[in-house]
Amino acid sequence: MNNNFLQTPIDYLKGVGPNRADLLKKELGIHTFQDLIHLFPNRYIDRTKYYTIKELQQTNAEVQIIGRITQIKTVRQQRGKRLIANFEDETGSMELLWFRGHKWIQNNLKINEPYVVFGRLNYFKGTFSIAHPEMELKPDHEKSLQSGMQPVYPSTENLSAKGISNRVINKLMQQLFLESKNDFAETLPKSLLESLKLLPKNEALFNVHFPKDQTLLSRGQYRLKFEELFYIQLQLLRKNLLHKTKIKGYPFKRVGHYFNTFFKRHLPFELTRAQKKVIKEIRNDLGSKAQMNRLLQGDVGSGKTIVALMSILIALDNSFQACIMAPTEILSVQHYNNIYELCNKLNISISLLTGSTNTSNRKEIHENLENGSLQIIIGTHALIEDKVKFKNLGLAVIDEQHRFGVAQRSKLWHKNKFPPHVLVMTATPIPRTLAMSVYGDLDISIIDELPPGRKEVKTVHRFDANRLKVFRFLKEEISKGKQVYIVYPLIQESEALDYKDLMDGYESISREFPVPQYQISIVHGKMKSKDKEFEMERFSKGETQIMVATTVIEVGVDIPNASVMVIESAERFGLSQLHQLRGRVGRGADQSYCILMTGHKLSVDARTRLETMVRTSDGFEIAEVDLKLRGPGDLMGTQQSGVLNLRIADIIKDNEILKIARSYASQLLKSDPSFSLPENLPVKTAYTQLTKYKNIWNYIS
Ligand code: ADP
Ligand code: MG
Repeated sequence: MNNNFLQTPIDYLKGVGPNRADLLKKELGIHTFQDLIHLFPNRYIDRTKYYTIKELQQTNAEVQIIGRITQIKTVRQQRGKRLIANFEDETGSMELLWFRGHKWIQNNLKINEPYVVFGRLNYFKGTFSIAHPEMELKPDHEKSLQSGMQPVYPSTENLSAKGISNRVINKLMQQLFLESKNDFAETLPKSLLESLKLLPKNEALFNVHFPKDQTLLSRGQYRLKFEELFYIQLQLLRKNLLHKTKIKGYPFKRVGHYFNTFFKRHLPFELTRAQKKVIKEIRNDLGSKAQMNRLLQGDVGSGKTIVALMSILIALDNSFQACIMAPTEILSVQHYNNIYELCNKLNISISLLTGSTNTSNRKEIHENLENGSLQIIIGTHALIEDKVKFKNLGLAVIDEQHRFGVAQRSKLWHKNKFPPHVLVMTATPIPRTLAMSVYGDLDISIIDELPPGRKEVKTVHRFDANRLKVFRFLKEEISKGKQVYIVYPLIQESEALDYKDLMDGYESISREFPVPQYQISIVHGKMKSKDKEFEMERFSKGETQIMVATTVIEVGVDIPNASVMVIESAERFGLSQLHQLRGRVGRGADQSYCILMTGHKLSVDARTRLETMVRTSDGFEIAEVDLKLRGPGDLMGTQQSGVLNLRIADIIKDNEILKIARSYASQLLKSDPSFSLPENLPVKTAYTQLTKYKNIWNYIS
């Protein structure tokens, strides 16, 4: 079947008029025949069984019943109306209900004609009912392409209210298969089909929409999932390859004075094996003629900063400038202080640029960046303002990548003739296979080891009722000279309430820990950044012992003397957030603690999150659990990645298929990078079409 046929607008399918076409476009994004074919069922149901009304049980099961409508009436209720049809068979009667779309239904339902209805059963005060049932006249039902396993397609309220039921979609699908004669072009090379024993494309499509049996359905699904993941990987890998061969970067040939002096004289500690390995990987990238695009993953506290600095020193050794961009002001300041300290004896010019940098400083910084006298700039989004121009930016380090969108990232690139090398650092570990899909066009380095001497943070879960005991423990720690974080949730939707919780908490803590014996800092999002900084500074110098805060301290803050992290309403935090917060302690040599406070009422998921935190401190393990609980859509870093745009594959469940698809994609690119062998013609055609009609950025950004 040629591609033009599949690109036919959906309006031209028999059974689709202008109204339906509009709905299909708006509600399901179906514009063409191809889009419809790629609308895959969410699940399948057993339609071989028919119930009589007498047989019905008081369950919530989905049932299929044959009967007739004897009358329809409209009933007013508190809000709006509902439509009730009395539905009977030889054994009894029940009700069919509609809350929306009355008009269409009333005009189209036929009284006293045999219908097959299908839907989820309700039971209320002696009467069975089905709300918004799927309905089909019995003769139509018998004529339609039957299969024991009936696909259930994605739908929306609006669609079912306007009469586009699952049945209708099913019929349209039948129509399309009839018109196409089930002749869909193969998109995978023959050898691949053979070696993986995959179903041909047309058989796979047919069996996913009209499964003959479970085995064929599974094989059909497998084939289509494989194909989907294969083409995504092919595009990602190809892009990466293109980067390496086509996108020129500045080769940093030398490792010179700055790097060597720092390494020999000023390194404050021995690098871990993992840090050394990663620095080597980066050095290799920087030395090549291609632009580096590298993701540096490392758990909180694994020591990414020093890696960033040493990469920056290589840039400086080659007479280039470098920048570090961080998501928050606090974090930028922290980076600045750290790096400033570390470079202290190297005579390097380095500045901080954030939203609160005053005008005259800002002007000077802009000038010095442009004339090249400023070597390192550290800051927030302020760095990507149009006014900021570098003389020769050679390396951009981006911390905590999940806070920046792809577009923002690339803004830095456009500052130069060549794009600078880019090092993206993230402390949110992502399982490797997911990272491949999300950041497939980046190379990945992992620091999988913590600096020596770190003690694992002891983590416990305590109920609010035991608060006094917890306070007593905090006092003991403080009396040993330690410092304590107490963190409250801050969630956008309930900001006002959260703010009140924070203030109430602050008050009760002030009562429990009175001045002058105790000094308390408070930091939250509503404060001016100057005040925040001031409080952070006090805490960091040890002038205050307790830091009460919202999650603004989530990322990056490094105060080794803080040994206890108390997280209030811990059930309201996501796993990766909890893990990030816990990472704020355990940075010194002494034993540290993380105390998760909750009430007694906990959801199953919340319980799992808390148990996971208590059980392990391995960021990758935590990320896996998080992924299973929430799906990739909520995982930090994947929000903009669109891995959810997958049509049939599931990035988590189909992990194994993903790995295989990636390895085959990579093999193919090695053996035939431009798909010019006759055997790879299907790939060439499919790939061209894919990049023409559906750009990879639909998946990635
Ligand atoms: P993160 O990866 O979370 O950004 P940092 O770079 O802030 O971690 O490092 C965390 C702490 O560990 C810092 O205090 C840093 O000085 C220290 N550190 C980093 N690498 C080492 C090492 N190899 N040996 C000892 N301490 C280290
Ligand atoms: Mg950090």
